Amino acid sequence: MNSGRLDIIGLGPGPQEWLTLETPQILAQASDLIGYGPYLDRLPLGAGQTRHASDNGAEIPRARHGLELAAKGAHVAVVSGGDPGVFAMAAAVFEALEHGEAKWRDIEIAVHPGVSAMLAAAARLGAPLGHDFCVLSLSDNLKPWGLIETRLRAAAAGDFVIAIYNPASKARPALIHDAFALLRELKPPETIVGFARAVGRKDEKLTLTTLSEANPALADMSTLVLIGAHATRGFEARGRRWIYTPRGSEAR
Ligand code: SAH
Repeated sequence: MNSGRLDIIGLGPGPQEWLTLETPQILAQASDLIGYGPYLDRLPLGAGQTRHASDNGAEIPRARHGLELAAKGAHVAVVSGGDPGVFAMAAAVFEALEHGEAKWRDIEIAVHPGVSAMLAAAARLGAPLGHDFCVLSLSDNLKPWGLIETRLRAAAAGDFVIAIYNPASKARPALIHDAFALLRELKPPETIVGFARAVGRKDEKLTLTTLSEANPALADMSTLVLIGAHATRGFEARGRRWIYTPRGSEAR
């Protein structure tokens, strides 16, 4: 049988309006949808389509499942929230593909970009990513604190704006508190901090504060945390606060 196709797609942070135009077309053509249950629940199920919902962990087995189905001729859509390449399924599919069965390499594979949470969060708050920034995930159970500390120190030394995904690790809830304690040693107390929770969804909540006053407990599983650089600034217009990082930065 001919090898099928595997499309890796992202659904953006929430609202349908933030899907790319190609996404509904790919979803409509797929024979099999694979992803985390709550993401698949957001999608209308077409005639003859099968949903393979899984829990949030087990990304490699989920990727292997998709590749097995595609190798048998299915048109599989592997679904992530946000962008599928940012702390999401695309990397798991490539890892499974590299180490998997030889015939899987005949499958036609495409990765389709989506709106990542940090982009939506930044847009809601103004333009905090207007200059150099870096991105960390606190989720990885396999990532030791030593590595997180090294990267936070480097990010602070480089005076990057820092976007933090997965700030609330179930296994290690103290992580975000430790991260803030470290950043408070490394960056000025007035550094701008934003908590962007459930951006684009009904329960969206945006909190702007400073590093010295920030309460890390505000960061749950649906929150993206943004830590400003020295240059990141805030001001008010029409009764609301905006933050931004100017386009030009001087050497410090
Ligand atoms: N691939 C996704 C990220 C998956 S990791 C993307 O590109 O956005 C999951 C983390 O993303 C969450 O813990 C949270 O930090 C962030 N996130 C996802 N959706 C979000 C939203 N609507 N608002 C704020 N943060 C969100």
